[in-house]
Amino acid sequence: MIETEQLTRCYGSLTAVDSLTLRAEPGQVLGLLGPNGAGKSTAMRMIAGFLAPTSGTARVCGHDVRRNPVAAKKALGYLPEGAPSYGEMTVREFLSFIARVRSVGGDKGYRRFDEVISRLQLEEVLDQPIGMLSKGLRRRVGLAQAILHNPPVLMLDEPTDGLDPNQKHSVRMLIDAMARQRTILISTHLLEEVHALCNRVAIIANGRLLADATPAELERQSRYHGAVSFSA
Ligand code: ATP
Repeated sequence: MIETEQLTRCYGSLTAVDSLTLRAEPGQVLGLLGPNGAGKSTAMRMIAGFLAPTSGTARVCGHDVRRNPVAAKKALGYLPEGAPSYGEMTVREFLSFIARVRSVGGDKGYRRFDEVISRLQLEEVLDQPIGMLSKGLRRRVGLAQAILHNPPVLMLDEPTDGLDPNQKHSVRMLIDAMARQRTILISTHLLEEVHALCNRVAIIANGRLLADATPAELERQSRYHGAVSFSA
């Protein structure tokens, strides 16, 4: 569902992502685990089609992200790092705008809008400006925009970063529910998040893939623990 082949991005002499070959199979929740600066966001921005690779390819549901960007973007819901901060725009205005951009319209579109609002438990804040919401609620708005067009694949960049323990728990529960119908790639620097959500994990440091394992195998392969600075 997500495949990268030798995906590489250089900034001058820095290789932020270095020949990254990844595969998220249907139904999988694949964790991309690595410390700050490992190259997770850069890899995700290339997979989402927002950043051109220096070399290599990325595919979403078989669609090459550079050659067939419309089909690839249609198949993918993407939560960028951080929460949306559309200042004065209300949740309803923002999600209506995303619905138009994503061509989620008509009666079906209205039903989908209501379904997503209800699933993300955003009914009570629909008419509040996004800038006034807590970080946890803003992250839920971010998740809502990612799933509005009902994509089969989701890519979430550090979805619980900066949240307090209660907010983390509630966002993880929502992601867990989403994983029942989707393939998900989640970036994180938290080992506990991999254990809570993922059934496979790719470890990345200095832009390179160090290991690709199940969380249980990862636990046993303690030799990798020195290579990535995990934090709880
Ligand atoms: P974090 O969790 O801190 O976001 P990350 O794993 O997502 O870390 P990236 O943001 O992908 O890491 O950054 C990978 C490397 O690329 C870092 O060394 C970063 O400084 C560098 N980098 C990212 N974007 C740029 C840019 N636009 N110009 C120059 N260097 C960049």
